[in-house]
Amino acid sequence: MSENLSTLTPEERRARREATIEERLREERERVARQMGIDLAPRKAFHRPIERGFTKDQREHTTILFGGLTWKHENLIQGALSGLGYKTESLACPDVAAFQLGKEYGNNGQCNPTYFTVGNLVQHLQNLEAEGMSREDILDQHLFITAGACGPCRFGMYEAEYRLALRNSGFDGFRVMLFQQGGGMNQSEAEAGLEMNADFFLAILNAMNMGDLLNDVTYQVRPYEVNEGETDRVMDEAMEEMKEIFRTHRTFELNGKVSGFIKKMPKVGPTAEYIGKFLDQLYGDEYTSAFERLRDKLDTIELDRTRVKPTVKITGEFWAQTTEGDGNFNMFRFLEREGAQVVVEPVGTWIMYMIHQAKQKNLDLKGVSEDEAMPSAWRVDKRMAQELRARKKNAQLSLAEGMFTREWNRLRDALNGIPHELTDQYELQRIGHPYYNSRAGGGEGHLEVAKNIYYSNKDLCHMVLSLKPFGCMPSTQSDGVQSAVVNHYKDIIYLPVETSGEGEINAHSRVQMALGEAKVKCKLEMERVLDETGLTLDEVRDYADEHPELKSAMYKVPHTKGVVSSAANFVKHVAVLMEKEKEGSRSRELAGVA
Ligand code: SF4
Repeated sequence: MSENLSTLTPEERRARREATIEERLREERERVARQMGIDLAPRKAFHRPIERGFTKDQREHTTILFGGLTWKHENLIQGALSGLGYKTESLACPDVAAFQLGKEYGNNGQCNPTYFTVGNLVQHLQNLEAEGMSREDILDQHLFITAGACGPCRFGMYEAEYRLALRNSGFDGFRVMLFQQGGGMNQSEAEAGLEMNADFFLAILNAMNMGDLLNDVTYQVRPYEVNEGETDRVMDEAMEEMKEIFRTHRTFELNGKVSGFIKKMPKVGPTAEYIGKFLDQLYGDEYTSAFERLRDKLDTIELDRTRVKPTVKITGEFWAQTTEGDGNFNMFRFLEREGAQVVVEPVGTWIMYMIHQAKQKNLDLKGVSEDEAMPSAWRVDKRMAQELRARKKNAQLSLAEGMFTREWNRLRDALNGIPHELTDQYELQRIGHPYYNSRAGGGEGHLEVAKNIYYSNKDLCHMVLSLKPFGCMPSTQSDGVQSAVVNHYKDIIYLPVETSGEGEINAHSRVQMALGEAKVKCKLEMERVLDETGLTLDEVRDYADEHPELKSAMYKVPHTKGVVSSAANFVKHVAVLMEKEKEGSRSRELAGVA
């Protein structure tokens, strides 16, 4: 018998209706599940396994493994961390065998940087085992530190992937520590094995910057060296020296008679030491002097700057554009063999991008954190407090930007200004945003698009080669946009290449084809410059022979607007020098006559 609903209150009637809807939904869900063979029993959600931590007392007998950058960066980071008292070891540059191990032990459908990285780690651990170390000791005495983030692309899954592959390969329980892009380390603060303090950040920052600048110089010098292999030999020696400087570097500490007293003062003590460390960083000359000594060594390398080579700017996804091995088909060496000059991407651009994006987000949110609501307009007090909070944070981020750029430029100056300047993040945002929303995160965000325009428009390259892992989500979005970019900027030669771990020959032949176009562009540019200056290449070479300083690697050839290749810029410069010499001798003649 149906119930008389008219006796119920409106609330009771609404509750009944809701219950009926819920019941019908449940029945329907079960029916569809039965039909499709889906089990609706409650699932056990995945929980991140509780991992043994890394504590201070383990530091002496624990080796921190890391990798994923260039060997120069890794060498310097190793020196910097051992200077701080850590045992570290950088993994070898990952090869195809590592990639295959990663695929064997990992999930399907991951980005290939995961396969390369975790496969490389497994390979290293297997080698330790083959050398006689027990699994127990491997787990006890090692850990791996790597970058991580919560996404928004598959980067958010890296940590889980590492753990899965390690478990599948028999190294279950091996410690993986994540260096979060948006924050610090995933380890408890107290008695942490890795102290995330000012000394740590400054050491890493210096090592990164130096690695970037030395890489930049190497790729500018090597294609023009007269004696083959000389650049690599000088750089190898220099890297050993730089590593030793890091290893023996003494961090700033308050010393002297009053230091004990100052240190004990609440608040003042730690702040004073903290300020001292930053001043030591900003005004100390240990690293700049080392770079000046290195500049003098590099200066002994003889160059033939009249070699006409197209300049290829590398962009793309962070890992694929940075690694120097099978991970990007050994692309840099391949390009050099094919007669190109490569402009590699510094990690510094990424660091500046992170600061810039944090600043942008802070401006957008106006000091309101993500988990709170904007106060009502009449709560002027709260609004003002938020405004102040936003301004304070922005001031701190601007300070970080300024300090980073200043440190970069100090080291760059010590190398005679030869390495490229840091790209201006505000300009990148300005030129990239109309094509790719600069608030969209993940991967390189708007940078891929912006760098394509920036380097081509500023006469810094003949061609842009974007290296990205197969199926990289943010890079795929960028590539969609790049077709609009190359339509607007008709002169740009842009080639995206997906690195899949296989198919090297195919990738190389695509690059060869685009490089062919870049070579024509470069040749035409040289013809134009020779025409404008009225010189021949032989005359330029003769002049350089008479002025040997022009052949030294650290001689700074100025960049002429509208001219890209090193050789064409050199011709322009020699033309100016010749003109000056002629004017000088004319004035001397006139003075003699007078
Ligand atoms: S940026 Fe691309 S390659 Fe890197 S994790 Fe995201 S999707 Fe994968």
